[in-house]
Amino acid sequence: MKPLIAANWKMNLDLTSATQLVRQINLIKNEISNVDIMVFPSHCYLSLVASVLNQVGAQNVSEYAPGAYTGEVSAEMLKSCGVTHALVGHSERRHIFFETDDILTKKLYQLKSVGIVPIFCVGETLDQRNRVESVIQHQLQPILSFDAPYIIAYEPVWAIGTGQSSTPEDAQSVHEIIQSMVGPGVQILYGGSVTESNLLNLLKMPNIHGALVGGASLKTESFTSILNIASKYEQGALI
Ligand code: PEP
Repeated sequence: MKPLIAANWKMNLDLTSATQLVRQINLIKNEISNVDIMVFPSHCYLSLVASVLNQVGAQNVSEYAPGAYTGEVSAEMLKSCGVTHALVGHSERRHIFFETDDILTKKLYQLKSVGIVPIFCVGETLDQRNRVESVIQHQLQPILSFDAPYIIAYEPVWAIGTGQSSTPEDAQSVHEIIQSMVGPGVQILYGGSVTESNLLNLLKMPNIHGALVGGASLKTESFTSILNIASKYEQGALI
């Protein structure tokens, strides 16, 4: 499988900077065919990104079907804007917005009903590091009964936005546990302070199939470097 590099812009960028960044990403994409590139902008830029890239992700989706839910965005609306993928279970949604397994299951159901592929995120907090296996096994439960294609992102919470990435070996040991639970065909991304400096060694691990990139995806220079490293590694030029 091709490595997948996904940019999670979170709640960043204005319309002008989002437009410039996605255009730059498209220029690089035209030169790189051996890496899957996906961008997860804010909802208000989804159509913009979808007009430029063929793989576009939503950072969130409503757990409800369309109706009287002021401020919510349904899976059907996302689909109509060209969305192909959606994050579910990101640690910021779990911790800041208190999304439970029940809510995540409802979101998965909404996505499945329109054929949007979820990227289901799991990851332990610093306090949970000594029991990471059971935490991850528990967090994976909602996706294990999902009978449509999906991707997993392993993002240790202590590594997100901290500049302190997991070591490739530590990440690999968790990816191996996840792979044994979800099966061999499922792609598993690593996320948590991925930069151009640590990506290569992460990609060398057998069960790390790409990266979900937050902070380093917001600047053309760093994201371009990340994409180029993934492409050269895939070519075998950086072993
Ligand atoms: C994220 O939140 O998905 C993420 C990986 O962020 P960062 O790369 O900034 O740690």
